Amino acid sequence: MAAYHRQQPASAAAARASAPGVSQGLSVEFVLKSDPGLKRGHNEDFLGYSAPNSADEIRRRGWLFAVADGVGGQELGEVASRTAIETLTAGFGAAPLGDAHPSLLARLVQAANIKVYETGRATGPGGTAMATTLVACALRYDRAVVAHVGDSRCYLIRQGHAMALTRDHTVVNDQVRLGVMSVREAAKAETRHILSRSLGLDLFVSVDTSEHQVVNGDTLLLCSDGLHGAVSGAEIARTLASADLQTAADRLIELANEHDGSDNVSVLLVRVQSVERVGMYRGRPYKLR
Ligand code: MG
Repeated sequence: MAAYHRQQPASAAAARASAPGVSQGLSVEFVLKSDPGLKRGHNEDFLGYSAPNSADEIRRRGWLFAVADGVGGQELGEVASRTAIETLTAGFGAAPLGDAHPSLLARLVQAANIKVYETGRATGPGGTAMATTLVACALRYDRAVVAHVGDSRCYLIRQGHAMALTRDHTVVNDQVRLGVMSVREAAKAETRHILSRSLGLDLFVSVDTSEHQVVNGDTLLLCSDGLHGAVSGAEIARTLASADLQTAADRLIELANEHDGSDNVSVLLVRVQSVERVGMYRGRPYKLR
């Protein structure tokens, strides 16, 4: 899957109508790209997004981007990741305008969890265990809200540095946090890919969400472990510094395959072209003057 999109300001008329000094609103460009890698016959990663349909929706609903990395025998990983992304993006597009993103995303990830769980149960007597990671980023005004379960990541790339906005839900990472394993040991552990949380295994899942301010020129990267397991944050930042989004996405996949290639690799890049600055009071935006 490869696609390239550029979102212009809602309309030229709207942009012209804004008074001097007033922001023209949130505008983004983005690229989705996924590759099976060099050793796997099929791709269990899935990417998706939900785009606002009007100037009003840019302000009141915003954008949603998401990446999922499915796990399961045969083709069930593919079913799990696709089900999670489709449930999430459909739910975002149907949510009431103006819903606060942190609670909305937590709710939608929970709904996606139940859908994956039920889809697994429905495969036959006793059901089949299938699961997926999920990382989602919603953008509105000058805010990015990130929600995740599992080890797919969201990075913010700003001024040549890539910062992970998510913390992997893996068993070794939990052990590092508990102080029973060092970061160096964790990076080499054979069990480093074992997830401590994933979507679809239980009726309820604990979702991590965080909110971040974004500025013009920021790039957000959502990716599966096929990328971040093979390509460092420094390489990601370097790649993005010297290329347009499509070239950067192609190059990141190439790098992952050069360094490893044993897993599916997915990248979803979103560049913030302009933001609408707002203040927030109890989760509600107000205009800054
Ligand atoms: Mg993977």
